[in-house]
Amino acid sequence: MRKKIAIIGAGPAGLTAGYELCKKGHDVTVYEASEQVGGLSRTIDLWDQRIDLGPHRFFSNDKKVNELWLEVVEKDYKMVDRLTRIYYKKKFFHYPIKAFDALFKLGVWKGILCMGSYIKEKISPTKRDGSFETWVTSRFGKRLYSIFFKTYSEKLWGIPCTELDEDFAAQRIKKLSLFEAIKNALFKGKNKHKTLVDQFAYPIDGTGMVYERMAKYINENGGKVVLSTRVKGVNAKDKIATSLSLDNGETIEYDEIVSTMPITLLMNNLPDVPEEVKAASNSLTFRNTILVFLKVDQDDLFKDNWLYVHASELQMGRITNFSNWVPEINNGQKETIVALEYWCYNEDANWKASDEELIELAKKEMAATGLAKAENINDGYVFKIPRCYPVYGKGYKEPLEKVEKYLSSIDKLSVIGRYGAFKYNNQDHSILMGLLAAENISDGKEHNLWEINTDYEDYQETATIGATGLIEE
Ligand SMILES: Cc1cc2nc3c(=O)[nH]c(=O)nc-3n(C[C@H](O)[C@H](O)[C@H](O)COP(=O)(O)OP(=O)(O)OC[C@H]3O[C@@H](n4cnc5c(N)ncnc54)[C@H](O)[C@@H]3O)c2cc1C
Repeated sequence: MRKKIAIIGAGPAGLTAGYELCKKGHDVTVYEASEQVGGLSRTIDLWDQRIDLGPHRFFSNDKKVNELWLEVVEKDYKMVDRLTRIYYKKKFFHYPIKAFDALFKLGVWKGILCMGSYIKEKISPTKRDGSFETWVTSRFGKRLYSIFFKTYSEKLWGIPCTELDEDFAAQRIKKLSLFEAIKNALFKGKNKHKTLVDQFAYPIDGTGMVYERMAKYINENGGKVVLSTRVKGVNAKDKIATSLSLDNGETIEYDEIVSTMPITLLMNNLPDVPEEVKAASNSLTFRNTILVFLKVDQDDLFKDNWLYVHASELQMGRITNFSNWVPEINNGQKETIVALEYWCYNEDANWKASDEELIELAKKEMAATGLAKAENINDGYVFKIPRCYPVYGKGYKEPLEKVEKYLSSIDKLSVIGRYGAFKYNNQDHSILMGLLAAENISDGKEHNLWEINTDYEDYQETATIGATGLIEE
């Protein structure tokens, strides 16, 4: 049966759902609040170059997600050699952490102390209390935790690591194995398959190319992607989603609704939500990001795709260098565009600061690293992203589960996406959510969409990539 389906949000999750449902012959309309598709994974035109909203490396260990990515991107991607390091005390440490690199750069004395605290942890591990701090300490030892994880994580989340849930660590941090390090050092180069640590596939027109193509397909195949149109909320009657209300006052009926709008805003606008569930939803918080792009009249700033900035004297958390991705996005321009990331809450001074003040701050911090000369920075551009990161505060799962349970009880409504489902998603998770939501709606499948991105075991770095540059089974 051909269904009339509304999708809220033209990011990876919403567009994937729209693309798949359109392929299956449904009548699809995607509503996007902003003037461009791609969500956080959009690519924007700036100073005659194409740049992403911070670093966007695609990877997935899911066969269907990889097949879909290749179906859309076709041959228009290149393999990018990956180099990502941590900037700390004016030194550059490899990330993911390499044991010998870290010990060597820390110096003999600190290296010995770190080894000591790592070994102590192996003999008598710190008792885990569900926090980020005890999770990381129990794997790396107190000293390595303080140097390589504490400052950065507290910059990112704006709360002490004792208050941060260990889920965030389990999802994003690769285990450190001294045995593996010794093995790699001894047998370097022998039978070494390329993994996600070494390379990744990147679309030649920027990450957003994937989503621009999906939107084009929808528009050319009977569906619609409507830009600059914000959805106010979803209407439901007797626990069945019936229609959408747009910000412009229009209400439109649909057979099915897929939401990727922030979960808290969706909940605020649903009718008859019990007080207890409302309170649970209101306890979920998000962290904002400010991206300050700088145009630097230098073409050899540093070799990394991006750098993690752990230095506590600097407010920024990460610097992306768009000269080190694929040359196509630089469009023959000699200047380097870098993006400096600042994380904050609504009430923080930086969120309220003017663009001019933020550009000044970014220029000063960039020059302080010694990576660019102040006189070579000749332009700046600010992009503010509200609700960029769902905050995994300690114990966040309890209220989230209440909200999940309530939303699951509403028929004809699928809730997916990064802020949509309050999951710290990469693109692949959001694509998978879109794919499976489409199967539920069109093929009568019963995938539990809330379960996506909850299995963290060795998610990211160790997988071997195949001939396409993606993980192949
Ligand atoms: C700095 C940074 C670096 C990242 N690096 C990587 C990386 O290396 N690799 C990776 O895979 N992922 C990365 N990500 C994550 C990736 O960007 C997201 O996982 C992905 O974009 C999430 O897709 P989504 O569709 O769930 O949500 P979003 O991308 O947030 O899209 C949601 C869309 O919904 C729209 N919307 C919201 N509310 C409404 C409304 N009421 N009405 C209509 N439209 C609405 C928004 O405007 C937006 O376009 C990074 C993210 C950031 C911020």
